Amino acid sequence: MNGQTFHSVTLDPAKCTGCTTCIRYCPTEAIRVRKGRAIIMDERCIDCGECIRACPHNAKKAVSDPLAAMERFNIRVAIPAPTLYGQFDEKFTIDRILSALKGLGFDQVLEVAWAAELVSNAGALSVDQRQCKGPMISSACPAVVKLIQVRFPSLIENLMPIQSPMEVAARLIKERFYPGRADVGVFFISPCAGKVTVSRYPQGVKTSAVDGVIGIKDIYVPLRNTLPGTVELPLAHASGRGIAWAHIDGESDAVGNPAGISVSGIADVISVLEALENGKMANVAFIEALACPAGCVGGPLTVENPYIARARLRARERRVVSRGHRQPPVAADDLELGWEEPVQAREALRLHPDMLKAMIMMEEMEVIHASLPGLDCGSCGAPTCKAFAEDVARGHVVITDCIFKLRENVRKLAEQLIDMERIQPPGLDKD
Ligand code: SF4
Ligand code: SF4
Repeated sequence: MNGQTFHSVTLDPAKCTGCTTCIRYCPTEAIRVRKGRAIIMDERCIDCGECIRACPHNAKKAVSDPLAAMERFNIRVAIPAPTLYGQFDEKFTIDRILSALKGLGFDQVLEVAWAAELVSNAGALSVDQRQCKGPMISSACPAVVKLIQVRFPSLIENLMPIQSPMEVAARLIKERFYPGRADVGVFFISPCAGKVTVSRYPQGVKTSAVDGVIGIKDIYVPLRNTLPGTVELPLAHASGRGIAWAHIDGESDAVGNPAGISVSGIADVISVLEALENGKMANVAFIEALACPAGCVGGPLTVENPYIARARLRARERRVVSRGHRQPPVAADDLELGWEEPVQAREALRLHPDMLKAMIMMEEMEVIHASLPGLDCGSCGAPTCKAFAEDVARGHVVITDCIFKLRENVRKLAEQLIDMERIQPPGLDKD
């Protein structure tokens, strides 16, 4: 969505030293350092959280809702991401974790992993019936969807037009459990900053059914403290197929298309999307693409090492088979899961809305870029010389913000002064 002003990922100016580390990691070149502090360009940020991981001074953070936000509602429902289960030792069953979560003040808990099974069925059908050229790309990771909107708009038609498991779980609560009630608050328990943003600026639906997003790290300690004494209730319904969505390969396996591939980590996702744009994915039917390392288990709002969390989840996936089948918590086979509206390109990288002016600016940018040293040193506050040239062409900075151009100008000025110093007034010039 263009004009977006809210982002979960934000800067704490008091902690930022202007070290420029983060500018090199941002996949959309959304960060600049100006006047000794980082700034995030709203229109480019995809809330991937890379800068949170990269900052050595903890100056970047993901803003989410506090647990107390549920107090605004009479009926409070938690919809936890399956990543939550991987944060705790396997001696605590999923029933126990869900019961402890309910004990924090929620009236009901519904697993997003269960909604993920519904989405997997719809996704499998969508891949089989796809109309687009090339593979379908999962739309479950909001950062990947935004990455495509900003950097790969030609691939928007490949996005799977199916609502996310989070959205489906929230809608089930509002439409099937409490229809017509306005006092129900649904809170997603999230591993990721992108979900906070997408609950306010939804993708594929007009309005999100999610009322708040609480970071896993913000409820981890109270949950861990209450788990040992919690009485287990039979709250878990998801099979391993839904739980596996928390890590890489989970959605691919659940969709079940043998011509699917999985990729995680924003740099590798970009490589795969570039390959797809260059026509190198002819035999692929489906791409599961997750921005965080190892999938949602690597989200910036988690606590546990992603690889430990994934191993725990795999063990849990095997264990739920022995738990046996439980009836679905609600009938949902007739729920419409398709997108309500298309996802649009975000023209954040376009130089000017007018094509002619954009071409003139592009030429200007190329001339400026050619005059720069090409060291990508970052001392100008931009991630690369090319990005700096773009900033100059856009009028955001001046060319002498490049230390090398400044030195070049000073040298030229000094030479001119020396030349001028040699010039004699006509009355004294004996030649
Ligand atoms: S990495 Fe970025 S946000 Fe962190 S201190 Fe350095 S410039 Fe500031
Ligand atoms: S969240 Fe991602 S896109 Fe946004 S500024 Fe940080 S690294 Fe860049």
